[in-house]
Formats: sequence, C-alpha cells, structure tokens
Amino acid sequence: MSAIEELVGEFAKLPGIGRKTAQRLTYFLLKQPREEAVRLSRAVAALTERVHACSRCGDLTEADPCAICTDPRRDVGLICVVEEASDVAAIERAGEYRGLYHVLGGRLSPLDGVGPDALSLPGLVARLANGAAVREVIVATNPSVEGEATAHYVERTLRQAAPAVAVSRLARGLPVGGELEYADGETIAQAFSARRTFSGAAG
Ligand SMILES: [Zn+2]
Repeated sequence: MSAIEELVGEFAKLPGIGRKTAQRLTYFLLKQPREEAVRLSRAVAALTERVHACSRCGDLTEADPCAICTDPRRDVGLICVVEEASDVAAIERAGEYRGLYHVLGGRLSPLDGVGPDALSLPGLVARLANGAAVREVIVATNPSVEGEATAHYVERTLRQAAPAVAVSRLARGLPVGGELEYADGETIAQAFSARRTFSGAAG
C-alpha cells in the first residue's frame, strides 16, 4: 500500500470522515510545508503516550489522579456518573457542576455484547465505600435506550452496595436519543438543576 493510500485509510476510520474527505485531508497535508505534517504526527503520538485514564475517576488525563479529582474546590460529596470521558468534557464546558466524576467506559448494550463486566462500576462502589463523604451520585448516562438501561443498572447496584447514598438521574431536558456530548451548556446546566431521585416503582 502506498503512503498516500495508508493515510487516506487511517483518516477514513475517523468518525464523520468519509473516503472523499480523507483524500482531501491527505492531499492538503502534502501541499503544506513538511513541518506541518510532522507536527500533526507528533501530536497524534503524544496523545497515546501521555494521555491515560485517571485511576480514580476514569477521565482522560496526563496527570494521575486527574486535575478534577485533586481540585480542592470541587465538592467531594457529589459524583456524576457518565458513559465516556467526552461527556465529562461536555459537562465541564457547561460550567455549572462542581462535584467529581466517574467514567463507566461505555453503556450496557446486549446486542453489541456489552454487559455489566465491561463497565467500571466496581471502582465506583469502592469509591463510595472508602469515601464516606459522598452524599449523592448523579447518573448522567445518555437519554438513549441503552443509556436508560445503564442508569437503572447503576442505581440498582448502588442501592445494594451503598444504601445511604442518594442516587439521582439527570432531568429529561436533554433530547431523547441525543448525546450529552453534543448538548449545549444551557441544556446540560438545566438537566443538572432539575435532576430527580430514582423512585423504585415509578422510576
Ligand atoms: Zn480523576
């Protein structure tokens, strides 16, 4: 395979990039000064070398624990549970939430073979057991079918493992089937302030 074909193939694997755009990006890079392409390749390499999951919350970080886990101004009584690290970034952009996070690393999806074992729930249970300071866990999985199923699974698990901790779910201001990652800051802030606790029967 030629170098051009190889890069086109790699670009085409990225979300939202078709074969045509992948070709355009590749030929664009070929027309730039050599340093531009070298800088891009270095940035990609640095991503894999320097970024990893925080050992406490699972967010992507270069320092461990991450800057959020170690920030003394954050409210350690609140933990917001999200599917992916990109959801943390979206909530942080909204700028309203001041607690900590826990990244599950996915959502329950039986059709794709993703079961409870694939999620980092034991880590969350351990955090609740160690940190008696936690008052509330806010489940902020996406408002999709899989996200809802995941939210209920998290709630059931926590009710057994840490019955003293309140568990709440983001309000339904978010578009159903939409992704937290793409919601605007205002919508995310409203979903947080109007969050509701799970109620066994009605929930
Ligand atoms: Zn962290």
